[in-house]
Amino acid sequence: MSQDPARVAVIGAGPSGLYAAAALLTSEVPVSVEVLDRLPAPYGLVRYGVAPDHVKMKSVIRVLQKPFDPALVEFLGGVRVGTGGIGLDVLRQHFHAVVHATGSAVDRGLGVPGEELAGSYGSGEFVSWYCGHPDFVKLDPPLDHPGVAVVGAGNVALDVARVLARSAAEMAATDVPDRVLDALRGSAVRDVHILIRRGPQHVRFTPAELRQIGDLADADVIVHDDGLLAAGVAEPEDRRQKQNLAMLTEWAGGAGGTAPRRVHLRFLRSPVRLNGENGRVSSIVVERNRIDEDGRVVGTGEEETLAVGLVVRAIGYAAEPIPGLPFDAATGTVPNDGGRVLADGVPVPGEYVTGWIKRGPTGVIGTNKGDANETVAALLADLPGLPPPTRPEPAQLREALAAAGIRPVDWTGWLRLDAEEIRRGGMREAERVKVADLAEMLEMAHGT
Ligand code: NAP
Repeated sequence: MSQDPARVAVIGAGPSGLYAAAALLTSEVPVSVEVLDRLPAPYGLVRYGVAPDHVKMKSVIRVLQKPFDPALVEFLGGVRVGTGGIGLDVLRQHFHAVVHATGSAVDRGLGVPGEELAGSYGSGEFVSWYCGHPDFVKLDPPLDHPGVAVVGAGNVALDVARVLARSAAEMAATDVPDRVLDALRGSAVRDVHILIRRGPQHVRFTPAELRQIGDLADADVIVHDDGLLAAGVAEPEDRRQKQNLAMLTEWAGGAGGTAPRRVHLRFLRSPVRLNGENGRVSSIVVERNRIDEDGRVVGTGEEETLAVGLVVRAIGYAAEPIPGLPFDAATGTVPNDGGRVLADGVPVPGEYVTGWIKRGPTGVIGTNKGDANETVAALLADLPGLPPPTRPEPAQLREALAAAGIRPVDWTGWLRLDAEEIRRGGMREAERVKVADLAEMLEMAHGT
């Protein structure tokens, strides 16, 4: 007698969710997997977080799409779980287990005065804007001022700075929506100031990404380190930090250049407030820091003001709490043990997490593979003891979605939208041009 497959829902079709879906297919017991995403397009952070000019990095979608191609896994796009969509309690009636892979979408704040002014953004919203996320494509951040401040010393800060420093011709060859390209074409930005609170030996950039800043066709890099590098910085043990330091030392000794744009790496500077005029950012005040005898960064009380019309803080993310699941506000993650969701230290049957919502916003895309494998191993080990769903037939889920007024986009629907984006790309000599209007995305996916 054949065994009915256990039903697992993966919420979130980004890299962490899709690695989990692939891992579920390695199960020895039959498992049927459905991947839900609130957007009609899959790939999450690869589509809406990886910088548009990082075309090679996006090729990971060839791996991520594999389970959908032979239809081993179902895609249910345009399905929001939670408020305004289908409730998690309803979803649980249809599945033995649910894997939450919804990432970390909330921008952390600096907690300084003026942060709420127009022209001040978290990197999550700013990156989502240029990546053509339907919720943010109309953000239209002001690019009418020559100065921009980007706060943070991680790869997201580099992505933001690079996109702002690239020429419009370079950006036309990427997948940014036409609306974004038009804004970049009209950009008055000349000086991008990356504000780094610690020293050159502490940055979290990866060397390959830092090198790209030095290789920009239309921008020079200027290092502002108060002579720290020339005086000699103790060699870090970490190989990547050593590479970063060598690059920064070389740039610090450079003679500058005549490129139309400049990326300033300003070390030992912490933002203390944003000033505004008519409700809009007009400058950012930074406090100079020093490194004390114990290697700690301490403020000197000395302030500097930079004239900027746009501030982007790239200082990390937190997950959005999931109604019905516990949440740790301090870490911005769902408490878990190896992917098993914990409530008061006890596993919640059938609830799992993977990716940034599980471990926090760290690591590269590939990090999510091992992370998903760990979660799925826990899930498969638990499966024999999990209570069966009360409404296990796939048709019953479709009925519940219809009752909630949701018409899901299946894989074929996504492929229709995908083909249209590739066609539009051909008109701009890009691999694709994203469709960023949600209604238009749905129309294309449904072929209406
Ligand atoms: P991140 O690497 O954690 O960097 C965050 C930065 O924000 C740190 O430099 C941190 O400084 C700084 N920061 C935090 N709070 C601050 C404050 N109050 N004031 C000033 N600075 C503050 O985070 P991320 O850049 O958002 O990247 C997230 C993850 O995605 C990382 O693992 C990253 O490598 C990865 N990623 C990879 C790529 C790529 O491979 N191309 C691209 C984008 C992102 P301290 O160091 O002093 O704490």
